[in-house]
Amino acid sequence: MSSICDICSNKCWGIDGYDGSCCSIEGRDFIMGPIRDSVQFVNRLNDKLGRNFQASQVLIDFEEGKNLFPDKASWQDPENFPAMRVDVSKAKLPCIFYNTHAKFCSVHDIRPQTCQDYFCEHLMGEIGMEKKIQDQPSEKPVIDNGTSDPFST
Ligand code: SF4
Ligand code: SF4
Repeated sequence: MSSICDICSNKCWGIDGYDGSCCSIEGRDFIMGPIRDSVQFVNRLNDKLGRNFQASQVLIDFEEGKNLFPDKASWQDPENFPAMRVDVSKAKLPCIFYNTHAKFCSVHDIRPQTCQDYFCEHLMGEIGMEKKIQDQPSEKPVIDNGTSDPFST
């Protein structure tokens, strides 16, 4: 059986060569938020890296987010904020902490609670894990060519 890391980095949603769907926006209506432990997360980050990041460097608030993705409904709902900051310079629109080369979260050990609680349906099916947070949304990806993934219903 593949490890969680192998699945997420190399066969996310069962798609060969695909990775990190839940850490990236891509073409979907999706948001990595709300980050309810934002203050604690920024503190953990600064402790780990010996830096002095401000929350606005790491997270996106509603006022910024609603204008960043005006066509995405999830970014128009203030209840979904603060959200993880997105690297808009990359086509995948990943969280700024998602390493798109190594294909993993670079702050995995101190990641926000929202990220810790996220378990997607695909991963649960692969490793037989119970869903930890029942109200956590699980988004299936849209692949780069704009078509829905083969597991869509
Ligand atoms: S948790 Fe699911 S959506 Fe996220 S990277 Fe792993 S397989 Fe992909
Ligand atoms: S902090 Fe890590 S787990 Fe959370 S969205 Fe960013 S890359 Fe993914």
